[in-house]
Amino acid sequence: MLAILRKYLADLLLNVLPNHCIYCLSPSSKSICQICLAALPTLKIQCPRCAEPNHHGEICGHCISRPPSFDQVICPYVYSGPVVGLINKLKNQTFALGSDHITDTLIEQLKDHHFDLIIPVPYHWRRLIQREYNPVRELAIKVGKKINTPWLDGLIRSEFQTSQKNLNRKQRLSNLKGAFALASLTTSTHIKGKNILLIDDVVTTGATCHSAAQILKRAGAKSISVACLARTPV
Ligand SMILES: [Zn+2]
Ligand SMILES: [Zn+2]
Repeated sequence: MLAILRKYLADLLLNVLPNHCIYCLSPSSKSICQICLAALPTLKIQCPRCAEPNHHGEICGHCISRPPSFDQVICPYVYSGPVVGLINKLKNQTFALGSDHITDTLIEQLKDHHFDLIIPVPYHWRRLIQREYNPVRELAIKVGKKINTPWLDGLIRSEFQTSQKNLNRKQRLSNLKGAFALASLTTSTHIKGKNILLIDDVVTTGATCHSAAQILKRAGAKSISVACLARTPV
């Protein structure tokens, strides 16, 4: 109850007093001040393949026993603390206050890489009707503009899955069988021999990105990198 009241007051104050940090309400030219930004949980040590946070920086057991069809995951944050709230905001409104910082941090990490094409992880049309828009697609468009890389709705979600939330790794993989297909306008020229950047908002077990990357690899993609805003902790 207190948290709801605090959030309500913070939103109210920000409307009356712009140029304040959305967390500590101290004066700030950006929606999150430098101190609060530095306190967000960044992903530091991780599996080099799937970016699962770990304590040694070596490839994880999951990637050894069942290598994913993507080659790497580029991700700035751990999905915990205030990052969860920021990503939820981003999912619910296109220009969510504060969320621009986490997308900008991801874009900074992507600037050192080269990709030929960006493809967002698509929503099924039924989910699109429920949510009205796909925030992952908006993120892909923003990233494409900032890193000068073309983007394409290259995949479609051909099957409607039940929520993945309460499923384990194995159940998620079987739930996603046949989930993705190439979009009808996607040709082999778009994919064959290309270094593709697949975009999602949060990577949990990597099952969704694995299934999507599998379709692109079968179509001849040279490499698949995944970019996401946050990775769930173990
Ligand atoms: Zn602050
Ligand atoms: Zn891994």
